[in-house]
Amino acid sequence: MPRPSSRRTIPRTALARLPRRPRRRFGAAEPPAELAVKRSLKAAALRDCGRRCVYCATPLERETATLDHVYPRAHGGTDVPGNLVASCVRCNRLKGDLLPQEFFLRFPWAGLNFMRYARAVHRALKRNARRAVSLACAA
Ligand SMILES: [Zn+2]
Repeated sequence: MPRPSSRRTIPRTALARLPRRPRRRFGAAEPPAELAVKRSLKAAALRDCGRRCVYCATPLERETATLDHVYPRAHGGTDVPGNLVASCVRCNRLKGDLLPQEFFLRFPWAGLNFMRYARAVHRALKRNARRAVSLACAA
């Protein structure tokens, strides 16, 4: 009898892009240095965003916050502080791999909060957000 676990289905979208670095096995520990860097980036993002989700303004704790790449990694966005914000899990998932202007055009409320709370984010990203929100409001 074939084991069901031997036939894993892979979502079509997962095949479209190549992973940037080898995936860790599930449950495998992250290298300590990388973990420390990520932790301090997250702490800095939380502080800069006033401990709120920059998209829906929900207050966040260190445990509930996620680190969001405003310009998605899937589109070449990097780990620089000007591209990182604190967001809740729901908004992070809602945004997914959308470009910030696409996301704000679709959800202008997220753009309004972003302009208010993403204080340390790169200036060009804020400018883009402003443009997308006014486009969405004009439509
Ligand atoms: Zn949120």
